[in-house]
Amino acid sequence: MRLTLRNIKKILQCSIGLKCPRCCKGSLFKKRFSMFSHCPECELKYEREQGYFIGAMYINYGATVFLVFPGYFVTDLIINTPFWFNFCVWGVVSAIFPVFFYRYSKSFWLSFDFILNPNS
Ligand SMILES: [Zn+2]
Repeated sequence: MRLTLRNIKKILQCSIGLKCPRCCKGSLFKKRFSMFSHCPECELKYEREQGYFIGAMYINYGATVFLVFPGYFVTDLIINTPFWFNFCVWGVVSAIFPVFFYRYSKSFWLSFDFILNPNS
């Protein structure tokens, strides 16, 4: 696959749909938190080496900070809630959001790696 802007856009769309970055047909997950080892359609190996998805943890952490940190200050400025309330709300969001975003962080990491290294 040649990497053009169109292909990169397609890969990222597949990533949002939790599909294989190469064929965009095979699912990444067989259950909520359980991944296939290979793509059921094109046999792309998902976990290329042990610890491969540590980069997904960085994506998940970054997305959580990107959501919670500005969210705290924006709600503090706009709604002017008490400190303890705002702190508790965004604390709960920072605990729940990574669980929700877990699958997407793995999918984005896999797509990011596929864009940079499509032939491995
Ligand atoms: Zn595939």
